[in-house]
Amino acid sequence: MKDANTSSKTFRRVVLLCLFVFFLASAGAFPADEMTSTIVIGNSRIDVVVEQGSLQVSKEELLRWVQWAAESVSAYYGHFPIPHVLLRIIPADGKGVRNGRTFGEKGGFITIHVGSNTTSQDLGTDWMLTHEMVHLAFPSVADNHHWIEEGIATYVEPIARVRAKHMDATEMWFELVRDLHQGLPAAGDKGLDHTHTWGRTYWGGALFCFLADIEIHQKTANRKGLDDALRGILAAGGDIRQDWPLEKALDTGDQATGVPVLRPLYEKMKDQPYDVDLPAIWTELGVERADGKVRFLDTAPLSQTRVAITYGSVAPGSAAASPISILAGDTAMNFPKR
Ligand SMILES: [Zn+2]
Repeated sequence: MKDANTSSKTFRRVVLLCLFVFFLASAGAFPADEMTSTIVIGNSRIDVVVEQGSLQVSKEELLRWVQWAAESVSAYYGHFPIPHVLLRIIPADGKGVRNGRTFGEKGGFITIHVGSNTTSQDLGTDWMLTHEMVHLAFPSVADNHHWIEEGIATYVEPIARVRAKHMDATEMWFELVRDLHQGLPAAGDKGLDHTHTWGRTYWGGALFCFLADIEIHQKTANRKGLDDALRGILAAGGDIRQDWPLEKALDTGDQATGVPVLRPLYEKMKDQPYDVDLPAIWTELGVERADGKVRFLDTAPLSQTRVAITYGSVAPGSAAASPISILAGDTAMNFPKR
């Protein structure tokens, strides 16, 4: 989730595509003492503070988790979204990652809870920290448009992890097919701007993103996608530290792709239900769900669009799709990729 406020600090463009990660870990004992580390990723800096408390996972495992999330967001946007973010990791009872919140104040900061029994494997499959970091890459908009903020974070997060090779594409599509129907309008729906349920906020917003992604690809012969629109918004200074009218963000995105998709789709979805035939779309994209998994049909009419949505216009294996991590400092570590 996201809480935003405005800061007037200047947004600095990050030009490096490769990721340079530098850890400065405190020498204090862990987990009894609070730990502060700094991760430098491209031209951006992530200050990681782990509050006092008991955790099963090690300092190295926590930092790898942060690194993977930062790599995922950077793979999608071409660089980490803002120059500096403070990440507070708060140990909690139980197991797993929860209660992520992202703010535009103080140049950008994130708080997130990690259960004391959380394992390294739990961190390796976590989506929430990537979701929070995606929030950094879009301006704050009025409360009735909260669905666009959560929708982008919900839709982009698994694609970003696939592009950084931290998630399988089959798993990403399986979960999208499994979950996206929760964003469809129910009886009495009054459109995305006026129906503030959990389903319409998170998955209704994701549905908007998904439909826009397909349409941008269709109108550009798969040369552009939602990623180009969102990068264009970020390049224009539209990050979480800024308050923008939603229309400005959508128009900026449409200018970046050269095709009017976001604004017209918003006009159709903002104050009316706008029902969608999702099974027909899965068939067109060549995504077939069976026996607890999905398989891809390359003969489907939009199979190339499915590939472009998954990997972007940048071929897998290039610098942007496969960030290089160089680790240095007194806690130099090298993390194998999944
Ligand atoms: Zn969120």
